Amino acid sequence: MEQKFFNIDPRIEALAKDAEKVCAEAFARTEEIAEYNSRKVLAAFIHNGVSESHFAGSTGYGYDDRGRDTIEAVMAEICGAEDSLMRHNFVSGTHTLTTALFGVLRPGDVMLSITGMPYDTIQPVIGINGDPGCGSLKDWGVEYRQVDLLPDGTPDFDAIAEAVKDPRIKVAYVQRSRGYSLRPSINMEVMEKLVKTVKENNPKAIFMVDNCYGIFTEKVEPTQLGADMVIGSLIKNAGGGIARTGGYIAGRRDLIELCSYRLTTPAQGKEVGCTLDELKNMFLGLFLAPNTVCSAVKTAIFAAALFGGLGFAVNPPHTELRTDIIQSIELGSPEGMIAFCKGVQAGAPVDSFVTPMPSDMPGYDDPVIMAAGAFHLGASIELSADGPIREPYAVWMQGGLTYYTGKMGMMLAAQTMLDDGVLKL
Ligand SMILES: *Cc1c(COP(=O)(O)O)cnc(C)c1O
Repeated sequence: MEQKFFNIDPRIEALAKDAEKVCAEAFARTEEIAEYNSRKVLAAFIHNGVSESHFAGSTGYGYDDRGRDTIEAVMAEICGAEDSLMRHNFVSGTHTLTTALFGVLRPGDVMLSITGMPYDTIQPVIGINGDPGCGSLKDWGVEYRQVDLLPDGTPDFDAIAEAVKDPRIKVAYVQRSRGYSLRPSINMEVMEKLVKTVKENNPKAIFMVDNCYGIFTEKVEPTQLGADMVIGSLIKNAGGGIARTGGYIAGRRDLIELCSYRLTTPAQGKEVGCTLDELKNMFLGLFLAPNTVCSAVKTAIFAAALFGGLGFAVNPPHTELRTDIIQSIELGSPEGMIAFCKGVQAGAPVDSFVTPMPSDMPGYDDPVIMAAGAFHLGASIELSADGPIREPYAVWMQGGLTYYTGKMGMMLAAQTMLDDGVLKL
């Protein structure tokens, strides 16, 4: 006889069945993208002759590390880029982005964000909301400017075309994923238009993309559309749930070299940086990443259909084409957010017995609640939900190493909301 394993209200079971039915078309599209990207990754492994000897890793300075050079060539090929830096030495996505920004910007240069205010943890790096003297770009004499998004959350192409003309603009910065905002993410159709607008008006400006949460959700990456650099984290999409830490930067060879001087030292650059025991995890994670991202995107689509069906505002809706793994759900109250996160945590494979509570986080202005029961601390390619406790009391959920466990997590979130009286059926 089959067992149930979890106590889910029959009404939620029925709603989940309905939700899954309306997702069929979106699921098929997602799986088709995953198949394409799996072939892309497989081909890059084969072209670069990946071999077991590449998993050996190095110690000390890491001179002549063939595995490291090979994974960076593989990543470059996947992104359609000249070169890449893919290292466990990057401590987070924020650190990887910081390395990219400090790598290419110099005193007197201007960084122009063309998709509004960047992600919370990047703001103090730029010198917005940070302590003066902490070594931000601003402290080093790099000016920051921003083109706000239009009221509907889309890029303001006319204003971008005007703002980018200033020859002092060194970097035009785009954040692909919405982060903790409710604007639409920048899909590759919009990305291509942004590249065109920038290049037509200032061919010298470096087009830099915060690609966190984005890679492998569509068939092309921004670098294949003319972006000069893409940057992301290995405990998000590109690590496939296997890489234990790290980040990547892919793009133009001269820019990757500058970033490597910032990560290590001028002149030594890419030639140093030992890989310890991380290479096999990074290769395996990258190999699995298109499939893992598929599970995460399907979990997000399912969540949109389930919670949309329950009457909550969801962004994006289950029918929309995805360009990241993020799903926001407006729960309307702090209690709703807390119950949702409690349910997600209760369905985690690791630390399921923990109760998440709102608390202050470095780099964030408001208290943040986070549900994450992950194999790798803070990995948000694993099922996780979080959000700052502020209007409109939205949670951003992402991840799911497998669709089946991701789906269960979403059903437990709904169940906990029902149990806690913040969901009426
Ligand atoms: C996660 C994220 C970051 C920062 O990455 P961390 O690994 O959390 O430091 C930056 N930008 C976006 C859009 C992100 O989603």
